[in-house]
Amino acid sequence: MDLTSQLTRAAGRIRAAAGATVALTGAGVSVESGVPDFRSPGGIWSRYSVAEYATIDAFLADPAKVWTFIRDLVAEFGDAAPNPGHLALARLEAAGFLRGVITQNIDGLHHQAGSRQVVEFHGSMRQLVCLRCHRKVPFRRDEHLCRRPPRCGCGAALKPDFIFFGEAIPAEALQTSRRWATSCRVLLVAGTSAEVAPASLIPYEAVSHGATVIELNLAPTLLTGELETLFLAGPFGELMPRLAGLVTG
Ligand code: ZN
Repeated sequence: MDLTSQLTRAAGRIRAAAGATVALTGAGVSVESGVPDFRSPGGIWSRYSVAEYATIDAFLADPAKVWTFIRDLVAEFGDAAPNPGHLALARLEAAGFLRGVITQNIDGLHHQAGSRQVVEFHGSMRQLVCLRCHRKVPFRRDEHLCRRPPRCGCGAALKPDFIFFGEAIPAEALQTSRRWATSCRVLLVAGTSAEVAPASLIPYEAVSHGATVIELNLAPTLLTGELETLFLAGPFGELMPRLAGLVTG
């Protein structure tokens, strides 16, 4: 089947699901927005040791030191902006065809694109959290990167509200994603091979409850082989707007 027929078929499934569609996104969708792959050669993990800079124990022991790493991490994200794929997901939600997005990304690009129901599995760079009083404040680069570590009004060091190694996935994110996975009729998987738990469980939960999995990736993944997915090959920023156009058009 050619790509156009596949897109038409996928769009038909989404329309038939009448709003019971959920998207699961990963690093691939952000790469197209200019966010580098941290694991690539020269990426941030080749410059910083995870144990020394990215564990919760390291943060608690020396927040000022870890904030030098966070400053570099923020620079990696640069001025990344949502791409046409992010915007298309937001349009699908606004049109009533998408319940929400579960993302493994911490860049906040789905929010920036206008998506309202977003489950951020690994938390987000959009805000900082105080580990002592649990207050959250919006992350303002100009203000928070000049003094390291930035501090909460209560005096404790503020931490980005994404999870460090050694921290648990936020309970609310787990609950919501499980509820969505077990009740959706279509799961749209984009820019991820969903190999890392717990995100890796979502497609299996969805399928075991009768959902169709539509996969948008550059190349087939482990998932493609293990589940009967409707696989669409190509860049998220090109395929997603076409698909959304066929659904809402
Ligand atoms: Zn505090």
